[in-house]
Amino acid sequence: MYRDTWAEIDLTQIRQNVVAIREFLPRSTKLMAVVKANGYGHGDIQTAREAVQAGADYLAVAYMEEALRLRKAGLKLPILILTPIRPELTPLALKHDLMLTVTRASWFREMRAYKPVHTGGQLYVHIKMDTGLGRIGVRTVEEWRDMVPWLNAPDIVVDGVYTHFATASHADSSYLELQVRRFQEMKRWSSKLPVNHYHCAASAAALRFPELCMDMVRIGAAMYGYYPKHLVTGITLKPALSLHSRLMHTKRLNQGEYLGYDNAYQAGQDQWIGTIPIGYADGWSQSMRHAEVLVEGQRARIIGKISMDQITVELPKDVPVGTKVTLIGSSEEQSISIQEIADRIEVVPQEISSSITERVTRIYRNRGGIPNEAIRSEAEAL
Ligand SMILES: *Cc1c(COP(=O)(O)O)cnc(C)c1O
Repeated sequence: MYRDTWAEIDLTQIRQNVVAIREFLPRSTKLMAVVKANGYGHGDIQTAREAVQAGADYLAVAYMEEALRLRKAGLKLPILILTPIRPELTPLALKHDLMLTVTRASWFREMRAYKPVHTGGQLYVHIKMDTGLGRIGVRTVEEWRDMVPWLNAPDIVVDGVYTHFATASHADSSYLELQVRRFQEMKRWSSKLPVNHYHCAASAAALRFPELCMDMVRIGAAMYGYYPKHLVTGITLKPALSLHSRLMHTKRLNQGEYLGYDNAYQAGQDQWIGTIPIGYADGWSQSMRHAEVLVEGQRARIIGKISMDQITVELPKDVPVGTKVTLIGSSEEQSISIQEIADRIEVVPQEISSSITERVTRIYRNRGGIPNEAIRSEAEAL
């Protein structure tokens, strides 16, 4: 690592979060650990390994490429791909033992050109129901009936029937209840089929409503420490990611002088300015220009526009170049949570963590231990 900007991932914390979630869930509920988008920015392989150690039963990703990375890294758990794949990719999925999300009868018809019933082995599918999120999934009983003959084929295993909620982190649960009622009805449609698992809850619903945990829950955000704290009781999870850099330049800006693109800032008085090597190409979006960072345990305001590779902050005094700056996490007594930044720019914390780009080195820590360089280089080699 040559640049002084890095994200620290506390693998012990991820493991502790998964253990806590595991203990919190009903005993018979399986835990599917969602590690899509490079484990929400935390490292897909590293997170998956911690989840496995902490007792996860399944892994899930959004896309085929993400599933193949996990298999290449030697992860053996069942893996569900949460979005539909093109039918012609079915042989590849079978080769790597991947479970598929299917949303329509026509997918099975097209898939048959690439996988005859009696060759290629058993295909495990999870049927996605649209109970009101409106993205993908079966909506009507007619669509379901069209699917049933395909599901009865001898080489198809219906490992799951599932849905996803739109408002699981809202205090008002009325729309969620409507979606639950629709899912209950859809479960009745499928009652004549052998279905291994029904599942509907992701992090927020699983932590808020134990009765929705059913046979399995799909846990992403909570594993990384992100969940609607004010709505959840009986469990405490902590974020595993922090983001740091170092001052690379300081100077005195005189009253009236400008700073940054578009002259976005003009000094109202003489003041000390620090420049930090992080920018929007690292995932520190231009919308975060009013955020603060921690320098020597004190909050420092970001001023001027965020550029591609650099940001500027207001310093209380001349601070030595090389001083550590914390953008997410704690420094001495102070801390800036990812939730605070997310609230400020009106996104969810996982949008920020998953937007931290590849340019930012991840340093993995096992609490009390040293950075796990071995794991990092192994992941980078993929
Ligand atoms: C991403 C995703 C999840 C995980 O949601 P979290 O809120 O991060 O726990 C679960 N289910 C589906 C379908 C997803 O796309």
